[in-house]
Amino acid sequence: MSDLRFQPAAARELRDHIRAAGGVEVFAIGDVEDRWVTGVTITCRGQSDRVNALVDRPRAGQVVIHNHPSGNLTASDADLALGNLYGEDGVGVVIVDSSVTRSNWVVEPHLEVPKSVDPAAIEAFFAVGLPAALPGWEPRQQQIELALKVGEALSANTPLVVEAGTGTGKSLAYLVPSALWALANKGKVVVSTFTKALQAQLVSSDLPLLKAGGIVVPTALLQGRNNYACKRRLALAADEARANPDEDGSRLAELVAWEAGSADGSRTDLPFEPEGALWERVMSDGDLTLAIRCPHYQTCRWYTARRQAAAASLLVVNHALLLSDLSVRADAGRGVLPKFHRVILDEAHHLEDAATGVSSREVSGLALRRAISAMADDRRGRPGALSRVAQVPGKRIPPERTFALDDAIAVAQVEITGVASFGPEVLAGLAEVFPAGGALRITPAEAASDRFRLDVEPQVRHLADELERSVEALRKVDEVFEDVTLPEAEQQPLLDLRRGQRRLAAHAETARGFLADLADTCRWLQPSRDQRVHPGAALHHAPIEVAPVLRKILWTQFPGVVATSATLTVAGSFEHWSA
Ligand code: SF4
Repeated sequence: MSDLRFQPAAARELRDHIRAAGGVEVFAIGDVEDRWVTGVTITCRGQSDRVNALVDRPRAGQVVIHNHPSGNLTASDADLALGNLYGEDGVGVVIVDSSVTRSNWVVEPHLEVPKSVDPAAIEAFFAVGLPAALPGWEPRQQQIELALKVGEALSANTPLVVEAGTGTGKSLAYLVPSALWALANKGKVVVSTFTKALQAQLVSSDLPLLKAGGIVVPTALLQGRNNYACKRRLALAADEARANPDEDGSRLAELVAWEAGSADGSRTDLPFEPEGALWERVMSDGDLTLAIRCPHYQTCRWYTARRQAAAASLLVVNHALLLSDLSVRADAGRGVLPKFHRVILDEAHHLEDAATGVSSREVSGLALRRAISAMADDRRGRPGALSRVAQVPGKRIPPERTFALDDAIAVAQVEITGVASFGPEVLAGLAEVFPAGGALRITPAEAASDRFRLDVEPQVRHLADELERSVEALRKVDEVFEDVTLPEAEQQPLLDLRRGQRRLAAHAETARGFLADLADTCRWLQPSRDQRVHPGAALHHAPIEVAPVLRKILWTQFPGVVATSATLTVAGSFEHWSA
C-alpha cells in the first residue's frame, strides 16, 4: 500500500494542488509509464461518489488519482465503485495521502497493445475472396488503397480524413479493415452515419458482402431507444383503448399485430407512419421502463437490440445516437452504447449539424404538451397520471402520509393546469416580437433593447418560474412514495409522473439558459415547427461552437477516428478538420 510510484515532479504538482485547495479531496488523471505516474492533470475537487460527473474521461493505461485527507488510504465503497467503473476500461484508481508520500493502487491500469490489421488480409479479400464469391467482381485499385489506409489508421489509432466520391466503394473500403481490426482485437468498431438511407444500405448490401468474401463477423444496427416499440406500454394502451374505445383504437390494434410479427420492433420497420402522439404512447422510453422487473424484459425490443449491439464487432448507429452516447459517457462514465474501441464516421460532413442538434435546447408548445400530457386528464376524460396516482390504494403508503398525498396532488393539479394554459400563452405572446416568418437572434444589441427587456425577458422568466413551481409540486407528490414499493401493475402512473417531472425540469433549465447571457451560447426565438397545432414561438439556445464539445467527447476519447464523406474539403483543403 505504501509504494508511491510517483515521479517526484508529478508528486510535487499534485501535493501543491492539494495544498492550494486547503487539503480537501482533489482528483487528477495520471499518465503512467512502467507502472509509475509520470505526470498529472488536475480535473476537479470533490468526493469520490460525485466524481463521475466531474472528471474528464481518462484513457486506458491512465489512472484516476485522489487524496484521502484523513490519511487513511483504505478504499471506501465509493472508491471501489470508481474502480469498477473505470477498471473495465483499463483505467487504474490510486488513493494518496494529502502530502503524496504514500499511495494505494486500488486498481492497476491496463493498456493492451492492439494488434495491427494485416494488409495482406485486406488485399486478399478484394483480390481473391470477393471475386471468388461474386463472379464478375472487378478489384478496384483505388478502393484497395483506401482500405489499406483505413487499416493503418485503425492499427495506429491515428485519425484519418478521407474524401471519396460516390462509386468509389468507400463503404466496403472501411468495413473490411474495421472487421479485421475488430476480429484481431476482440474489439468493437462503431460505424456512424447521418442518414437512415445509408444505414439501410450498409445493413442490406455492404455488410453481407463481408461474409460473401470470407470475413465472418457479428454485426448489428442500433437505433435510438424511442424508435423501438415498448411491448408493455403497447399492451397497456391497447387494453385501455378496448376498455374506453377512442380514435387511436384501430391504429393500436394494427400496431399490436405489426409488433408481434416485426423483425426488430423498430419504427423503421412499420409499414405506416403513426401519428406522433400515438407513437409516444407506445414507444420504449428510458424514463418509463421497468427494465429487468418488466415481464417482457427477455423479449423486449430495445433490450434485444442492445444485447445484439453488445455482441457485435461492427455496430452501425447514427451520428445523433453516437454523440448522445459520448455526451452522457463524458458526464456519467457510461453511455447508452456498449463499450467500443474505434469509430468510423461516414457522411462526416454532417457531424457538426448532428453535434449542434444534440447540444441544442428548445422549449416549444409541443415540448410542453409532451411534458404534461401524461399527467393531466385528457379532453375525453381519461385520467392522467396525477388522478391515477390518487387512486393508488391507501394501504400502499404509510397512513400518516395519506393527507400529505391528497394535498400534494391537489397542488400539483393546479400547477400543471397553470403550465398547460400559461405556457402556450407566453409562447404565443413572444411570437409577436419576431419579424414575420423569421427568427429573432438575441444579439448583445437585441438583449439591451426595450423589446427584449420589456416584452421577452419578463415573460420567459415568468415561464421558468411556473415550470419550476410545477416541478416542485410534482416532487412533493413523488416524495410521498419514498421507500414505497408498488406492485408492477400500479407503477405506471408514478413512472409517468416522474418522466413529466424530469421533462418539465429540463424545460425550466432551458428557459433559464435562454435568459443567461453567456459568451459561448447563441440564443434565439423562432416560430415553432408545428404552427398549425401549437402556434407561437419556440425558445432556443445552443453552443456557438461545437468544436470544443466534439474535442472533449469524441476526438480526445477516440484519437483514431476515421472520417469520410463525398464532400469534406473546403476550398480543396482539409484545414478545418485539423483545426
Ligand atoms: S423492458 Fe422496458 S422498454 Fe422493454 S417492454 Fe418492458 S417496459 Fe418496455
